[in-house]
Amino acid sequence: MPSYAYLNKQFVPLSEAKLGVMTNFLHYGTAVFEGIRGNWNSQQEQIYLFRLREHFERLHNGCRVIKIDLPYTIDELCRLTVELVEKCQFKEDVYIRPLAYKSSQALGVRLDDLEADFLMLVIPWGPYLDMEKARCGISSWRRPDYNVIPPNAKICGLYVNNAFARSEATEKGFDEAIMLTPDGHVSEGSGENIFLVLDGKLVTPASDNHILMGITRDTVIKLAKEELGIKTVERKITPEELYAASECFLTGTAAHLTPVAEVDGRKIGDGQVGEITRKLKQLYSEVIRGSNPKYLDWCTPVYKR
Ligand code: PMP
Repeated sequence: MPSYAYLNKQFVPLSEAKLGVMTNFLHYGTAVFEGIRGNWNSQQEQIYLFRLREHFERLHNGCRVIKIDLPYTIDELCRLTVELVEKCQFKEDVYIRPLAYKSSQALGVRLDDLEADFLMLVIPWGPYLDMEKARCGISSWRRPDYNVIPPNAKICGLYVNNAFARSEATEKGFDEAIMLTPDGHVSEGSGENIFLVLDGKLVTPASDNHILMGITRDTVIKLAKEELGIKTVERKITPEELYAASECFLTGTAAHLTPVAEVDGRKIGDGQVGEITRKLKQLYSEVIRGSNPKYLDWCTPVYKR
């Protein structure tokens, strides 16, 4: 099945979607991206795009940060995504990558006096952290401070920081890195937010702990409250609290909800998937596939029936 991309305002086969070597963002990371999931529901033969609007709202906000005047409204971006995914006719989970970028064929480190454009591509993609439980390590690479690169926008250049952390973790034999804030508090994974269970409550780093405000994070906070009656406390977390947590899991569009079994060689709880984590993972997997009628507002069907 061929993948398609949307480039220069046209749908083209992915293999033919090419950019010039002088494109500004290629050199300086002057672009903002998103990652959106299309989840295959085999019973309904349908792909559901999960919380599509929220992803494009975040993209729009990121564009403001790096001075990209995105020439598409959120409604237009949502419609384009449905059209692109429908064109590919996949019958499996897909991953959609929108990218708003400084498109001028011009070198020079700056944000101004550059044109901007938008592209999007879709590929079939299963779980990003493809394991039942992840083994994590605290990274020596910390999140950048707010006056280095704003960590709450998916700015391409920012992700070199995440790439350093992820590679260090895998070189040490871990599945994923957990990054700390500049002042040593727990921040997030290289591509996921993090949650702990402490005294039966969910605890996650707050918005000012150098995190990306994840859409999965928001989904889990809402599901925990609505469906399990569990409140989430958003606050600073120390590494000791992480080591001593009874449960821990990572959340992200690509990684879904991945339980953490171990951090720096210390078992989390008894090293098995905890009760709250298990329930939330189950709920989340139903909701994203359009199998829970209560949350269908979050799911955009791709195929017309
Ligand atoms: N943190 C980082 C650094 C990420 O790249 C991601 C993935 N977008 C997340 C957290 C999770 O965000 P979301 O749930 O919106 O995918």
